[in-house]
Amino acid sequence: MQFKDIIGQQAIKNHLINTARESRVSHAQLFLGPEGSGNLPLALAYAQYINCEQPSATDSCGECSSCRKYAKLVHPDLHFSYPFFSSSSSDTAVLFIEKWRKAFLSNPYLGLDAWRNELDAGNKQANINVAECHQIIQKLSLKAFEAPYKVLIMWLPEYLDKNGNTLLKLIEEPPEKTLFLLVAQNQDKLLNTIISRTQLVKVNAIDKQSLASYLVEEKHLMADKATQVAYISDGNLQRAIDLIAEGTNDYFYLFRDWLRACYNSKVLSVIDISESKLASLGRENQKSFLIYAINLMREVVLHKESAGQLVHVTEEELDFVSKFSATLNLDQLVASISLFERASYYIERNANPKILFLDVSLQLILLLNR
Ligand SMILES: [Zn+2]
Repeated sequence: MQFKDIIGQQAIKNHLINTARESRVSHAQLFLGPEGSGNLPLALAYAQYINCEQPSATDSCGECSSCRKYAKLVHPDLHFSYPFFSSSSSDTAVLFIEKWRKAFLSNPYLGLDAWRNELDAGNKQANINVAECHQIIQKLSLKAFEAPYKVLIMWLPEYLDKNGNTLLKLIEEPPEKTLFLLVAQNQDKLLNTIISRTQLVKVNAIDKQSLASYLVEEKHLMADKATQVAYISDGNLQRAIDLIAEGTNDYFYLFRDWLRACYNSKVLSVIDISESKLASLGRENQKSFLIYAINLMREVVLHKESAGQLVHVTEEELDFVSKFSATLNLDQLVASISLFERASYYIERNANPKILFLDVSLQLILLLNR
């Protein structure tokens, strides 16, 4: 994995490269970022860069013996740990290494659901067990075979639970030339004792423009469609890939018609749209629709505040954005965004979509006409 293969994230790439070039490599680092942001491939590209025999100022060479082994995830000084489903308490992650390599190489942005599918795990609980922690301690106590740095990349340390305490000493005082890279999504689920012992590398969701260009170049989407998918997926490449596979619905027209009907207080159309269209989308699509709505309304706010600059939307959306930013005041916009956020929260908690969307619509009518 080279930095050039990672979508967007230029500031973090520069930061990681600079610290490596200035030999300020911290031994335990936490790559914290949402699913689909690329925190996992970033950690790997960083490890590859540090071990590359001929790194340039911007990337690893991709050709030396170390880089070639890294590219296939077979370097003897590169170790992975990840949640898995153990059938016995002595099972460790290495049992699943072939599946892991295959899953990562086919999609370095994979999320836990994709990994679960790969493992074919049914409803079993994934975790990183005590046996795995002991295995890690043992692996890292050995000298590096050939690389400058021995590296352990742990994906989703959230699943360590209390077992993580076993690793504290190792994280605090790792053997020389050992790099411990934790790749996490949810800070709240991490042990504080681990957080306090690692250096934080904060990774944001992929910026929507970089994601849209990637979707055009690599997934051959039309520009408008790519922009829309980048929005709906909220900068999560895994979600974007899922959306493309599902065949995304055209949320723009639906949203525009719904908002217009609410704005014009056309109660019958509003009821029709919420009952026959929104309520029947299916839960995943309803979530996507609301994320899209939130993002588009944020664009309206941006448009209003910056008088048209900084807005990255399709032509039709821009038309919508400029009309609504002229019509609505900031309070109305902010209130409608939080209304959609609340709706998204309830959808995730299995609210009845018919009742929910009708309720949201009625609140929206009041809000847009006050
Ligand atoms: Zn190299």
